[in-house]
Amino acid sequence: MNIPKDASAIILLKDDKVLLAQRNPKISFLGGWHAFSGGKLDKSDAEIEIKNCKDIDLQQFIVCAVRELFEEVGVLLVRNGDKLTKGQRASLHDDLISGRSSFKEILDHWGLWIDAADFAYTGYWTTPQFSPVRFKTRFFIATCPPKQEPYEAITEMQNLEFIEPNEALQRWENGDILISPPVLISLQELSSTDKHRWTQIENDSKTEDQRPKTVSQKLLEKSTELDGNIDYLEVNSRNIVFPLKTPTLPPATHTNCFIVGKKRFVVIDAASADESEQAKLHKLIDELIECGGVCEEIIVSHLHNDHHGGEVALQKYLQAKHNLNVAISAHKLTAESLSNIKFDKFIEDGDVYNLQDETGKTFQLQTLHTRGHARGLLSFYDEELGFLISTDNVVGTGTVVIAPPEGNMQDYLDTLERLKNLPNLKHLCGSHGSAIFNAKAKIEEYISHRLEREK
Ligand SMILES: [Zn+2]
Repeated sequence: MNIPKDASAIILLKDDKVLLAQRNPKISFLGGWHAFSGGKLDKSDAEIEIKNCKDIDLQQFIVCAVRELFEEVGVLLVRNGDKLTKGQRASLHDDLISGRSSFKEILDHWGLWIDAADFAYTGYWTTPQFSPVRFKTRFFIATCPPKQEPYEAITEMQNLEFIEPNEALQRWENGDILISPPVLISLQELSSTDKHRWTQIENDSKTEDQRPKTVSQKLLEKSTELDGNIDYLEVNSRNIVFPLKTPTLPPATHTNCFIVGKKRFVVIDAASADESEQAKLHKLIDELIECGGVCEEIIVSHLHNDHHGGEVALQKYLQAKHNLNVAISAHKLTAESLSNIKFDKFIEDGDVYNLQDETGKTFQLQTLHTRGHARGLLSFYDEELGFLISTDNVVGTGTVVIAPPEGNMQDYLDTLERLKNLPNLKHLCGSHGSAIFNAKAKIEEYISHRLEREK
């Protein structure tokens, strides 16, 4: 069992902005992604007592959030901390990182304490099952203490920035940054809530239920309603990645189903034969259709067993529930090998889908016939966003098997070379594991690794 590790994170506010930083691209878990400051719970976090804590279960998580914030970005969110100079804080940071002093020793020695009143709990989120590393992270909102500027205190976080939530969302929509679902939800709530409701409940004359909700209240409700689980990931405003349980090769356990587009969309690899997995996918597709979305096509990327199994069920479901006739398609070479599926259409290299985002704006998805792993394997590219769906050519978890008669090493190397040189390439997501921030570097890594093995 892949049990999630306890963790905490802080949504740190300053004026009308929120602190966002990029995780070091070298970190294996979500390297290069943008995130709030946060990290794993430490045993010692339970040894520190904090003031005014109404929920004792949260105490160690607040400590964890404060300690991680100090470690990662040098901000010391404690009471009585204003008597420390910048230089003193930096030297305490040194003591903590080098292990000369524990966090408790630092607080005790300098008469500092953590006050729970400075933090609003916004709920917890759990990394989905498909991830080899999982966290159950408690999120808190807090305000950056005056006269303290976050800095790159350790190499884990870089490009620190207080940013307006709207601007961060814009970057995500454009495919410039990658963020996890809890970060996305938090930014969306901040962006849609009046700034006066970001933190404290003001002392106005209205009674509690007359007041508009604060961001933390809204986020907490959402986390409670979903029990901290979000089954899918919105990589950008056009692409949803929905990992489905399949009989794939370990260490992978899931195959990514891609939904590209919102108002007009295609579904790539509705891969699971498992009915409960299919039901989750159908529910999300229902939501898209209820918002005015039209499913254009159901695509099978290639012949392997972990990439099909739910497409016919989806086709039938769309017919029965929404009275929609949706074609199932694949490359001809794939269709020839899968005689059990009735394909309505064949796809060739260079075919273009005209899809629509949430606002109804049309964009193009190019189809690439990428031989090497399987003769009929397809990949998909959105050049405007620079986002590549690399299917089984490049994956986030596990390795790509090149085995004859379907597999061909020279074809595979040619495919990788072609993918690497796609114009405007930024991020990619394969059929297994998470999206990759630096697509080109990842493909280059694959090429050199293969050439090395070939030798
Ligand atoms: Zn495959």
